[in-house]
Amino acid sequence: MLSFASLGSGSKGNATLIRSGNTTVLLDCGFALYETEKRLSRLDCNAKSIDAILVTHEHGDHSSGVGKLSRKYNIPVWLTAGTHHACKDTKFSSTHFIDPHTSFQIDEMGIHPFPVPHDAREPCQFVFSRNNHRLGILTDVGNITPCIVENLNGVDALLLECNYDDHKLRTGPYPQGLKNRVAGNYGHLDNQQAKFILDKIETKNLQFLIGMHMSEKNNHLDEVMNVLSTIKTKENNSQAVDISIACQKNGFNWKKIL
Ligand SMILES: [Zn+2]
Ligand SMILES: [Zn+2]
Repeated sequence: MLSFASLGSGSKGNATLIRSGNTTVLLDCGFALYETEKRLSRLDCNAKSIDAILVTHEHGDHSSGVGKLSRKYNIPVWLTAGTHHACKDTKFSSTHFIDPHTSFQIDEMGIHPFPVPHDAREPCQFVFSRNNHRLGILTDVGNITPCIVENLNGVDALLLECNYDDHKLRTGPYPQGLKNRVAGNYGHLDNQQAKFILDKIETKNLQFLIGMHMSEKNNHLDEVMNVLSTIKTKENNSQAVDISIACQKNGFNWKKIL
């Protein structure tokens, strides 16, 4: 059984729990230690039960809480050499380096990293697997590459960035430089890019589709829901897809791939 939950998602902090059998992995930790412990307990997870922390990239909303959590609970950290080089706090209890093109296994969980275009040193995103079930995660990506499409093809659950609505960003409160960064090829995915991925990949196995890393200023829940709901009209999607949006404050509760 592969299950997953979010401690929170957005520019103020990200962390996702993935569980396969008795193996629990935390993907990113952009929350302070106390906040992380509080959010973990909300999901009935004791930090002592976490077997590994994976870090997608060095931006603070993904990495700021990793060092303290790793030291306090003696949790090994897995990340690329580039991310390690660029992280501020790298005094982890132990460190394992990821090649973003090479799959590996942590106990009962298959882990398949893939490189993504984002303005970080060596960012990657992940597919997690157990038996024939696969969970794909894609946030903090400026544009869609064939490698991304190939990796997310046919997943059973997809956590997909829907960061901004292009019109809202352009006419919104961000300074021009930041607008350019977010909308650039190494920034974030907007709603239409998220839709593009959904059009491109095979989705007949999809049980869960969750909008992630939504901007509180440059997007709107209804817009994101509209985009994600287009999945329902796609050909040969026989089963009902559970569609939701992760929020900054509460993330989302455990979901199980059946
Ligand atoms: Zn981020
Ligand atoms: Zn980032």
